[in-house]
Amino acid sequence: MRRLDDDERVDLLRAARDSDVNPYFRVMESAAGPVVRVEGADRIMLGSNNYLGLADHPAIRQGAQDALDRFGGAVTGSRLLNGTMDLHLDLEAEIADWHGTDGAVVFTTGYQTNLGTISAIAGKGDVIVVDAAAHASIRDGAVLSGATVRKFRHNDVADLESVLSEPVEGGGAVLVVVDGLYSMEGDLAPLGEIAATCTRHRAALMVDEAHSLGVFGSRRTGAAELFGVAESTDIRMASLSKSPSSTGGFIAGSHDLLDSLRIHARAFLFTTSGVPAAVGASLAAVRLIRSDEGAQRADRALANASTLRSGLAAAGLDVGAESALPDGTGTVSPIVALHVGDEMEAIALWRRLFDRGIFASAALHPAVPRTGAMLRLCVMASHTDAQIRSAVDVITQTVAEGSS
Ligand code: PMP
Repeated sequence: MRRLDDDERVDLLRAARDSDVNPYFRVMESAAGPVVRVEGADRIMLGSNNYLGLADHPAIRQGAQDALDRFGGAVTGSRLLNGTMDLHLDLEAEIADWHGTDGAVVFTTGYQTNLGTISAIAGKGDVIVVDAAAHASIRDGAVLSGATVRKFRHNDVADLESVLSEPVEGGGAVLVVVDGLYSMEGDLAPLGEIAATCTRHRAALMVDEAHSLGVFGSRRTGAAELFGVAESTDIRMASLSKSPSSTGGFIAGSHDLLDSLRIHARAFLFTTSGVPAAVGASLAAVRLIRSDEGAQRADRALANASTLRSGLAAAGLDVGAESALPDGTGTVSPIVALHVGDEMEAIALWRRLFDRGIFASAALHPAVPRTGAMLRLCVMASHTDAQIRSAVDVITQTVAEGSS
């Protein structure tokens, strides 16, 4: 059992709170737009997963409102029993058509999607291989499955190759699970090489597109599409809480896979389905992402990311490398990692930016390695160029003053 009186992480949180530099549990007082009222002041929001700026979009509000008017506040039951609305079926059909798969299954949250799916399809005797930086929900699902869990170094295909070369006792199946776009560093997985390596080793591949959905690929289904491996990805997962600006998650795949999840995924079976407003908002968001407006918003998000990234890099700040694409070029993503290193320094920088009207996210251990504290800066399609440029100025000045 956890020692409640002796926990280093809680100590750090308390120290931050006592010195009033706590970057966590701050209170939002307005809708999730490019500028948000946070504790009495308007601040440029660079700490949100609202990459396409849809959270306060009229079409998404309307989708939520219509569903609320029709179905009320909640369905009060699981998908299996009384919790499946016609809205769920419309959303699943829309996602399947978008992804070109047999079907899709919508879960209540993205976290439950990974937990339920991974623990349903793999078990004792199987091997699950995950990237060392894979999201917590992937790692938790892998542990819950009872399979042997092996890690490979982040985005290191040679290391994946060597992990996949290790023998599997008893001839169980092998599943490789990676994020399409990593939420902390903002770097893409080299999915072309990863998919080829999986095929060579007869391992199944699952890609979590939580942060890449809506942004990457010509149809904006994510990183697998961008790298041309959507078809050879056995399990395509995404959250509905980032670009689609709602809550929920889904798996798109074959009939066999989906039927198996419907009957074995405990995080699907034994929880109440999403509130109607969330399902209605998700459906409106998916339709919008598929439209021309969705394409323009994705371009705009990446253009804003380029401005932010190149502005910070030009001032000598460490924002890491761009992600390599198969054609030899590179790409930015809506997530720009400002590397700081020391945890208390990152928290202090977070606070100085907060005081100057910038809301960022502080990424500390265990979200990142212990000496790899960073500020995670996320752009939205709805940020104006002036807002991004002003953020660059404030951040570069604040960092310079802090180190002088
Ligand atoms: N996968 C990844 C890569 C994520 O970053 C997250 C959320 N941070 C999830 C899954 C879980 O999604 P949700 O927030 O919808 O539960």
